[in-house]
Amino acid sequence: MGCSCLILGVGMVKLTMIYRGLVTAAFLVMSAGFAFAKPTILATFSILEDLIKKIVGDSMDVKALVPRMKDPHTYELRASDMIAIKEADLIIAYAPPFEGWLAQALEHYPGKLTFVAEKHPFRKLDDGSIDPHTWHDISMILTVVDELTRILCKRDPCHKEIFQNRAEIFKDKLHALDKTLKELFDSLPRPKRVVLTTHDAFWYFGKAYGITFLSPVGITTAEEPSAGTVAGIIHQIRHSNVGAIFIETLSNGAIVEKIASEVGQKVDGTLFADSLSEDDLANTYLKMVAFNAYTIHKALIQRQQKN
Ligand SMILES: [Zn+2]
Repeated sequence: MGCSCLILGVGMVKLTMIYRGLVTAAFLVMSAGFAFAKPTILATFSILEDLIKKIVGDSMDVKALVPRMKDPHTYELRASDMIAIKEADLIIAYAPPFEGWLAQALEHYPGKLTFVAEKHPFRKLDDGSIDPHTWHDISMILTVVDELTRILCKRDPCHKEIFQNRAEIFKDKLHALDKTLKELFDSLPRPKRVVLTTHDAFWYFGKAYGITFLSPVGITTAEEPSAGTVAGIIHQIRHSNVGAIFIETLSNGAIVEKIASEVGQKVDGTLFADSLSEDDLANTYLKMVAFNAYTIHKALIQRQQKN
């Protein structure tokens, strides 16, 4: 992909009127060709897909491998995914600890894959595993937007200025939401900001906004909580100030419902952890973060008013 549009423009200046009709016709054919040959970018999951679209608009064909409302922790590639991987010009993934299912599929396509969050300061757990959910911290996503902009501008230098402008506009929106949410949670006393969710996906969100998250399931939804873990959480809830209890759209909520019933509380709602929604409730990154934050805040306020 080069700047053929500019070359064509310079060439046209030198042509006489006689040839202009022919050149115009050729231009139309070439334009149709360029439109047809949009670069295909394959994001691993819906959050990345949305971030890429915010930067490139409709100048590239952007798709996600893992469909919305499917679990990216435990995803298994389908035959159609293998075709999409083969045909993609570029595959953009988050970080090696997250998309483990991708490595084998890409063995035959060296150079197609790029990661955009691998330099994040990931939280390491006692068992040596890495918590990949940094997308719940807007400050981390700002670095992802910068990295995506760099990669996409390199891929399509003709659109560099447009991509950079779109990225700056999007980053302004991210900064504004982050500021709003910091003020929102700052209005709640810190000890009241304790929340239970199904799997350990919100540690970075909690770090950003001063919220303690408890969860019976670990950092990947593939894990099953042990009886000891569940008992420990029930004990913690009974002896602390858990202000709200949530299940997640992609996780089995049965264990959280059991814990809620055990401690005599109700489940306050559902959060989006690892996928954007299909409907317009949380179908963009900004909407997902805002939805989770306002849902948590509303439940914490209601619990505070009851106590
Ligand atoms: Zn997760």
